[in-house]
Amino acid sequence: MQTIDQYNFAGKKALVRVDFNVPLDKDFRITDDTRIRAATPTIRKILADGGAVILMSHLGRPKGGPEDKYSLRHLVERLGQEYGAPVKFATDAVGDDAVQQAQQLQPGEILLLENLRFHPEEEKGDAGFAQQLARLGDVYVNDAFGTAHRRHASTAVVAESFPQARVGGYLLQSEVDNAERVLNNAARPFTAIMGGAKISDKILIIEQLLDKVDNLLIGGGMAYTFAKAQGGSIGSSLLEADKLELALELIEKAKAKGVNLVLPVDSLIADKFANDANVDVAANQHIPEGWMGLDIGPEAREEFARIIRESKTILWNGPMGVFEMSNFSLGTEYVARAIAEATANGAYSLIGGGDSAAAVNQLGFADQVSYISTGGGALLEYMEGKELPGVAALR
Ligand code: AMP
Repeated sequence: MQTIDQYNFAGKKALVRVDFNVPLDKDFRITDDTRIRAATPTIRKILADGGAVILMSHLGRPKGGPEDKYSLRHLVERLGQEYGAPVKFATDAVGDDAVQQAQQLQPGEILLLENLRFHPEEEKGDAGFAQQLARLGDVYVNDAFGTAHRRHASTAVVAESFPQARVGGYLLQSEVDNAERVLNNAARPFTAIMGGAKISDKILIIEQLLDKVDNLLIGGGMAYTFAKAQGGSIGSSLLEADKLELALELIEKAKAKGVNLVLPVDSLIADKFANDANVDVAANQHIPEGWMGLDIGPEAREEFARIIRESKTILWNGPMGVFEMSNFSLGTEYVARAIAEATANGAYSLIGGGDSAAAVNQLGFADQVSYISTGGGALLEYMEGKELPGVAALR
């Protein structure tokens, strides 16, 4: 893959796929601008070289046509502040207006295209649509790691029109480098912490990790399917009844591979799915009827934290409980704090997108971990050993 540092953008119009799928409140104010800031180094490099920037992104899930609430025009002002330069806007990603504005764009100028997903052709990976986009620029830059696992027109297909001039942006490059470091160069002990709601979403990565890690800590809703599979009673905790056998297989595989697979010994249990529920502590295998496990318990969080603190490489994906409710966020907080402590002691820590990234941010540990991935799904697929279409298209 050609890196962005190897390319001189002087006099070029760079067609840059970014992931500006940011959350907006009801007044269209951006509530979290992480994704905008993440792409800034790439955009600054192009401008500093003397190039012009044409930004393209998706926002939200429009139903196949224009919808004002998903318009990228809501971002124009914020982007102008970010780059210290006015940002022009094309009201359609393709067509005459976009073509004309792109043609007139001068070095140092920035044009933002309207939401790509106003055209269903985007997600279909339509070649004609990709060619229309390709007409706008001289060089293609992909810095949208969060959508690199999708073969969409703007994330992969468009690259075919730029056989000599397609590069990965700084964000995409660093995401790949950080994932590689964990997959192929992990210092030991290497501990992965998996949480969240479902095993089914994470089977492939768990299987992949069993070949790499020393410790695999499993928390969150998926731990109860394991507890049930081992013959425990789990009350009304989250259960994937069709994954019981799989859970046993994973336990067996871990044994065979010498991986220390750690399930929570206890849980915080609640008598309803609510923050104001009555709360108690129970052994994970003995949760009474009418109660559900909503967080790892006091013994489990101490054990998880101890293993994490002794680790040299840490990968975390998924919360340990229903961390959105304050009474069930302690397990997740313990894990985040232990990761920060280990990192301060020289460990390398990678936080895999989505809810774990949100938790680390929310709890104030964001600058105390090594790297927070911006791409939940994309990172998981990369770690599963799959080639990401958006990355492959740059080769
Ligand atoms: P995921 O997207 O699979 O990483 O799952 C994240 C979600 O799992 C969060 O919204 C958590 O609230 C939820 N979750 C974590 N632990 C539990 C649990 N014990 N019971 C129900 N939901 C949980």
